[in-house]
Amino acid sequence: MSDCLFCLIAAGEIESETVYEDADIIAFKDIDPQAPIHLLIVPKQHIATVNQVNGSEEANLVGKLFLVAAQIAREEEFAETGYRLVINCGRDGGQEVNHLHLHLLAGRGMGWPPG
Ligand code: 5GP
Ligand code: ZN
Repeated sequence: MSDCLFCLIAAGEIESETVYEDADIIAFKDIDPQAPIHLLIVPKQHIATVNQVNGSEEANLVGKLFLVAAQIAREEEFAETGYRLVINCGRDGGQEVNHLHLHLLAGRGMGWPPG
């Protein structure tokens, strides 16, 4: 989608601090980090929200988001100390960018419930 921020980042038309990229996925630093490490792991294909995960193609991509998160955690050596993965969905979920993305937060202790 030409007017979608994360589609434009995935296409390289808007700059981001990319930390991982393959044919299907891009991961980059959040512009307003909520933890010492705050990455957004994003399918290049436009899927607006979790509500649009309806079939095996979308499910595969969502699965890949988690594979990439675990790979980054191992490589950046915070797999053992832990991290938080978050997908916000819709208004009440706090989703601001309407292109599905997995937040990866690490580098500090995080409480629960999140508030
Ligand atoms: P949401 O609230 O939709 O789950 O999360 C959207 C995230 O995108 C927020 O954490 C916000 O800081 C981040 N964000 C918004 N605009 C930009 C941008 O232009 N570049 C980057 N790297 N992150 C952005
Ligand atoms: Zn998009």
